[in-house]
Amino acid sequence: MARAQKRARTAKPVRRPAAKAGSKAKPVVRTTTAAKAKPVARTTTAAKAKPAARAKTAAGKAGQLVYGFGGGRADGSADMKGLLGGKGANLAEMARLGLPVPPGFTISTEVCTYYYTHGDTYPPRLREEVQAALAKVERALGRRFADPDAPLLVSVRSGARASMPGMMDTILNLGLNDTTVQGVIRETGNARFAWDSYRRFVAMYGDVVLNLKPESKTEEDPFEVALAEKKRQRGVSLDTELTADDLRELVAEFKALIKMRKGVDFPEDPWDQLWGAVGAVFGSWMNPRAITYRKLNDIPESWGTAVNVQSMVFGNMGADSGTGVAFTRDPASGENLFYGEFLMNAQGEDVVAGTRTPLHISDLERENPQVYKQLMGVRRTLEKHYREVMDIEFTIQQGTLYMLQCRVGKRTATAAARIAVEMVRERLITPDEALRRVEPERLNELLRPVFDQDAKTRAEAEGRLLAKGLNAGPGAASGVIAFHAEDAERLAAEGKRVILVRNETSPEDIRGMAAAEGILTARGGMTSHAALVGRQMGKVCVVGCDALDINYERGDMRIGGRDLVLREGDPVSIDGFSGEVYAGDMPTRPSEVVQVLIEKALDPAEAPVYQVYAQLMKWADKARTLGIRANADLPEQCEQAIAFGAEGVGLCRTEHMFFGEGKIQPMRRMILAETKAARQEALADLLPLQRADFEGIFRALGGRPLTVRTIDPPLHEFLPHDHDGQQEIANELGVPVEKVRARVEQLHEFNPMLGFRGCRLGIVYPEITEMQARAIFEAAARVKKDGIKVHPEVMIPLVGHVKELELQAAIVRRVAGEVMKAEGVKFPYLVGTMIEVPRGALTAGAIAKEAEFFSFGTNDLTQTTLGVSRDDAARFLQPYVAEYEIYGRDPFESIDRDGVGELMQLAAERGRATRKDLKIGICGEHGGDPASIRLCQELGLDYVSCSPFRVPIARLAAAQAALGR
Ligand code: ADP
Ligand code: MG
Ligand code: MG
Repeated sequence: MARAQKRARTAKPVRRPAAKAGSKAKPVVRTTTAAKAKPVARTTTAAKAKPAARAKTAAGKAGQLVYGFGGGRADGSADMKGLLGGKGANLAEMARLGLPVPPGFTISTEVCTYYYTHGDTYPPRLREEVQAALAKVERALGRRFADPDAPLLVSVRSGARASMPGMMDTILNLGLNDTTVQGVIRETGNARFAWDSYRRFVAMYGDVVLNLKPESKTEEDPFEVALAEKKRQRGVSLDTELTADDLRELVAEFKALIKMRKGVDFPEDPWDQLWGAVGAVFGSWMNPRAITYRKLNDIPESWGTAVNVQSMVFGNMGADSGTGVAFTRDPASGENLFYGEFLMNAQGEDVVAGTRTPLHISDLERENPQVYKQLMGVRRTLEKHYREVMDIEFTIQQGTLYMLQCRVGKRTATAAARIAVEMVRERLITPDEALRRVEPERLNELLRPVFDQDAKTRAEAEGRLLAKGLNAGPGAASGVIAFHAEDAERLAAEGKRVILVRNETSPEDIRGMAAAEGILTARGGMTSHAALVGRQMGKVCVVGCDALDINYERGDMRIGGRDLVLREGDPVSIDGFSGEVYAGDMPTRPSEVVQVLIEKALDPAEAPVYQVYAQLMKWADKARTLGIRANADLPEQCEQAIAFGAEGVGLCRTEHMFFGEGKIQPMRRMILAETKAARQEALADLLPLQRADFEGIFRALGGRPLTVRTIDPPLHEFLPHDHDGQQEIANELGVPVEKVRARVEQLHEFNPMLGFRGCRLGIVYPEITEMQARAIFEAAARVKKDGIKVHPEVMIPLVGHVKELELQAAIVRRVAGEVMKAEGVKFPYLVGTMIEVPRGALTAGAIAKEAEFFSFGTNDLTQTTLGVSRDDAARFLQPYVAEYEIYGRDPFESIDRDGVGELMQLAAERGRATRKDLKIGICGEHGGDPASIRLCQELGLDYVSCSPFRVPIARLAAAQAALGR
């Protein structure tokens, strides 16, 4: 047995620190025979009479390795997730709440840490503590582990601090062997049940501990194949139709399969089984899929997993037994409805594995009203206690309900928002708590596109509506089919939008799921792996679409009752709101929120998602202290930004205007001009065009501040670099094309990012700044005269030296005076600068003498601080982050706190030391990133500015930052 064990462990791809040292010792595994001597267990429990008394205090004794639970008490509690893992801590909490939890114990995560730092060995005291804890369970249930007559059977379950769905492996019915199975038969008089439990155990143990798994992507699970073969031989279609004899044969066949494929005997000794399973759980912490999941979810490796050993209850004891999973509210829509699925006469993973399509929880009311009522009671108790939506697992054994797990339920962003808002109304939580419960980034989901209703109707008329599954993850996605996770990754890398289509997904598919736009499965319910993980990733997800007939070998998919065959690469569209699946591409439409706010095509009263959004935003605005502005260059963008809640424009890039209708020609003329006079002539043509743009923006803003940045990019960006384009300009200007080409070449720069751009342009060509200032102020004057307030703020880019700003500010202030005088109106205005080069940040004290505001241009500040060109960074920045962890996140997405953040702090401090009321904001891409917003809050900035569609995210993130999330 010990040999089988060692093999199994070494067969696992486990990274182990001190390879050889520990493998010789393995005292725990070796002493299994001694462990069976009962007196030992007895004395240890007697020696530690305390746990029961301590149960209510929830504080584990120093060095305690094993924590018991059951019978209304527990050594642990919900707040001990670090030590007991989420599952163990919540099992303890449920036991304390008096819920019916089968007794058991948790081996702490510290043992996992020890295991990996001590060459896969356990702390010496572990054996004793496990024996004692198991003895306690034995006493509570009046059964004995390994007893030939009334054997105690257990499950061995992993459970890390953060829930890792499906990452770790659970073994059920442990303790069965050829002797104890007879005891179970005698005791229950139910041979079918006994053999069914046994065959499940052998298969799970064979898979998880002895590592007998499919070896290629097309191979099916070998145990499943044997099971299917047995069903075929017997001419039945369901597991439940197999007889006791069939199942007994399967046990023997499974064992033979293990012997043949793995060369080991299935361990008959329950203690060997137990330690093998415990070792496998710890081993699985380092399996590749667990590592991938941790990487994707930022879970530190150092946390380790706990192991839960729990007495078994049986959902497969007949028609009055069953197993299920439920959410206390609908995890997709957030509706306050008990949401769950169950199967009668089934065990463990049957519900979530997607092999049988489960029944809806409301059917349980018919099936067993007594248990249903009890379950509704559990639902109330848990929601009231946790003040959260809970995800639960339960089993019914011959009409009695048992709770096997609870955890805070994963949900779509739509559901998260709705649940948070409704829980405030139900007085379960406060508005501040509601704000903390919605991930700002995921608010995107509420702004997500939906399919155009007309397009859907058309597709349906064309017969392209293929099938309908369960609407597990909201949104609309169109893409090409991939049947395997690797293929999804590959196609996505080729730049295609991919829909991953599978019978069901498993943890091995995670990377492919991440790469896909949407996930479509033929099997499984709302709590299947695909649904759970898809939702968490924010993917559009349709599951349990059983009309799909997927054939991995042929690499195609047929739809029940049709001739149609779809292959890899064919387009499909899935609607995660309705569960519908369509052949072909389909155009999408903006979300409810966008339809109400931006298109104004939907009445808010008829938009429930919008209403939830609006309530949340109202609370967010009350909680936050940071101002929220948008980066917008056109009147209609400004309107959008305001609809999303922006309080002004933090960055209006004037150069974007120059690409507009009729503007690029005078702009090019201005650039190509060889004399000041010619340049001024071109600028005079540009002036009315710019002024009209600013007028529109001032009107759209209705008195909100507008920060305009004077021209910033290198001039050659405005010029055509191909012959045809150059010829066109030459014709327009009436000059030979060579002349144009020469000028373009003259403007060429080796490093334009550090070249002739920003305020350098305005300093060398002051007439450009003058024209821009005039356009801004004349527009302001005109709008002001129409009775609309204006707050122009002129922002000079790329300032590194106070003198640069002085020169530019002088022009701006002179023009402001001239315009106000000429137009006969007065309005407030500010002149400020961007802080986007290190010298600007370092000399902020001097610059603030001249600047009335600062705005951190964190894109350039990141480039210049890190010495990294954003446009050239892709090749190394990706491995820098993903592989070498040099930066925690891409510094162009989230501000590099230690470098760029430090400079920002210094600049803010020095600037404010000079000018107490200096207004400071941020207008780089980072202005919409929640982590960067938190930094801005810490630095005491006045506002953040981001793209219009990120404004809602920024509002929520700012609220959380203010609340100190
Ligand atoms: P996961 O973390 O993947 O959900 P679990 O440890 O919860 O794995 O176990 C998998 C399945 O086995 C679940 O359906 C669970 O309810 C069931 N299960 C676990 N322990 C027991 C037990 N002691 N009795 C009956 N069913 C169990
Ligand atoms: Mg579970
Ligand atoms: Mg810049």
